[in-house]
Amino acid sequence: MSYDCLFCKIAEGKISSYKIYEDEEVFAFMDINPQAPVHIVIIPKKHINGLDNVFYEDEQVLGHIQVVAAKIAKQFPEMKNGFRVINNCGENGGQTIFHIHYHLLGGRVFSWPPG
Ligand code: 5GP
Ligand code: ZN
Repeated sequence: MSYDCLFCKIAEGKISSYKIYEDEEVFAFMDINPQAPVHIVIIPKKHINGLDNVFYEDEQVLGHIQVVAAKIAKQFPEMKNGFRVINNCGENGGQTIFHIHYHLLGGRVFSWPPG
């Protein structure tokens, strides 16, 4: 755990969240400010600041997150026609919480390019 990290505290259950999925490495919960009918945040339990701060040792958990995202998506009828997985990295990428996380969004049609 990183000192004073909101998402570490959520993963540890010290701050409450609407949990969607948990295993040894990963925790997923509903976003507090949803940008789509279904908006889930998936995080590694290990504290990593962001995608600009990953190493080869993180490959396994970051790959695992994609498999978890697909597994969660299958559980929501809103995502049967597709979904979007997003990582916001750094200031220009729109990252506001500096514990790496992936947004899993579904339930509407998403435009491209993103805003
Ligand atoms: P970012 O902007 O860093 O990519 O995404 C951070 C996300 O965390 C935002 O979508 C925001 O709504 C969500 N978030 C921030 N604080 C909380 C919280 O306390 N609980 C939950 N469930 N989501 C949060
Ligand atoms: Zn953290």
